[in-house]
Amino acid sequence: MGINMQTDSYDVIVVGGGPGGYVAAIRAAQLGFRTAIVEREALGGICLNWGCIPTKALLRSADIYDYIQHAKSFGIEVSSSSFQIKDIIDRSRKIAKQLSDGIGMLMKKNKIDVIYGYARLAGNGIIDIIQQDNKQNAEENKSKNSSKIPSSSSNIRISSPHIILATGARARSLPNLTIDHKVIWDYRDAMTPPEMPQSLLVIGSGAIGVEFASFYATFGCKVTLIEIADRILLSEDDEIATFARKMFEQRGIEIITSADILNIKVSDDSAKVTLQTSKDQSINKTFDRILSAVGVLPNTDDLGLEKTKVTLGKGGYVEIDEFMRTNEPGVYAIGDITTFPLLAHKASHQGIVCIEKIANLPNVHGIKKENIPGCTYSSPQIASVGLTEKAAISAGYKIRIGKFPFVGNGKAIAMGEPQGLIKLIFEEKTGELLGAHLVGTEVTELISTLVLAKTAECTENEIIATVFPHPTLSEMLHEAALAAQNRAIHI
Ligand SMILES: Cc1cc2nc3c(=O)[nH]c(=O)nc-3n(C[C@H](O)[C@H](O)[C@H](O)COP(=O)(O)OP(=O)(O)OC[C@H]3O[C@@H](n4cnc5c(N)ncnc54)[C@H](O)[C@@H]3O)c2cc1C
Repeated sequence: MGINMQTDSYDVIVVGGGPGGYVAAIRAAQLGFRTAIVEREALGGICLNWGCIPTKALLRSADIYDYIQHAKSFGIEVSSSSFQIKDIIDRSRKIAKQLSDGIGMLMKKNKIDVIYGYARLAGNGIIDIIQQDNKQNAEENKSKNSSKIPSSSSNIRISSPHIILATGARARSLPNLTIDHKVIWDYRDAMTPPEMPQSLLVIGSGAIGVEFASFYATFGCKVTLIEIADRILLSEDDEIATFARKMFEQRGIEIITSADILNIKVSDDSAKVTLQTSKDQSINKTFDRILSAVGVLPNTDDLGLEKTKVTLGKGGYVEIDEFMRTNEPGVYAIGDITTFPLLAHKASHQGIVCIEKIANLPNVHGIKKENIPGCTYSSPQIASVGLTEKAAISAGYKIRIGKFPFVGNGKAIAMGEPQGLIKLIFEEKTGELLGAHLVGTEVTELISTLVLAKTAECTENEIIATVFPHPTLSEMLHEAALAAQNRAIHI
């Protein structure tokens, strides 16, 4: 690295190079802070290397394959089609690497020192970094999915009055389900299968579970998705989750809710599973592969937190205030280690707010959780921001709902995507937008308009007064607001 890091001190040190950490580091450097970032694996974190980006690359391949299967309905004859799973994965891995390398370039451009190694707090603003002998990169560390330190190592020490912890999260596994990376997969395995399995059991119906279910089902794998709760996509509005479930089922995904795993017997190349359902029925099934998508654990153990006053709350997540300050002066936490929602854009935004507060910039505002959108990129896509219908009612709001189906939208029909629903929730008295819930094609793009509307505390009348371009899917946002006043035009 050309400088002696052993005794170096910095204005800001960021631990973890994911979308929380690297964005915080760039903002710190922009504001003139001498900044270092410590990363044990690869810049870009889970998001760029093993999360958001590579999954979206895989899902893009799935979408294109799906279009080809339905080409005839667009008047196009495709005489034959096939796929090479290796090429699909290679593309996804290349894109992940391209973006991770891009972050390296941004670090250089902003004169941020990148230190590869495993960081632990030593107290009093000091960080000890254990460096592996060989240079680390994401591909070499594919199987690494723990928060443990590497074995062969050398030590360096750096210090700063401002330390930002952004160490992210790792896959959680169920007690009766050991991830063997062969038959029982975690998400990294599901992103790099050596071949397409004929059958797959996905355990867990959150965003990660349904995205993988969608990907594998598109390529002809027989997918069963199970969920211990009585519905899928628990963080989404009931009606939207029910709508999405029907669409997944139409696409051939078997969904079993209120399902618990009684027993799993893993053999060389498959697993026999006994499921118990709410009807007290047990179901026996054999699967080629099982994907455990039951959530994550924060990387807060083995971080030296015991040397500080940093406190952990429910689930081991770091407790912070609205400006990401922990209980230890000078130590901050951002991203997945700071509890739900566990999303890249939340991590990045926290990083920026945290640094700007450290820099004492004027008008720095904490983040309102209800203004953070959530997106699921399955087929169909699901996107939402703010309160669900149920949450709004239980929070005591009197609400008015406006809904608009995709089938009433010219662009959706022209695209061959007539299935979907927009649901907007307004406060009855003021007309303020409380929540927006979308299912259907491209809703992960449509949601941004509503996030802006919600952040700006827009009312139904302001959305109605807005002129939306035609023909676009976005016209449905207008129609849904009109529908809240029984004025929708195209239904
Ligand atoms: C399959 C999958 C798909 C996803 N898709 C989406 C999506 O579409 N949209 C979305 O918003 N979110 C998505 N997520 C979630 C998203 O990846 C995370 O919310 C996001 O990466 C969190 O950012 P972070 O900076 O907090 O942590 P991370 O991205 O996890 O980065 C933490 C970094 O810290 C490093 N680190 C950990 N401990 C140490 C240590 N002691 N010393 C040095 N370095 C350390 C890690 O190696 C890692 O690089 C997905 C997640 C998965 C698993």
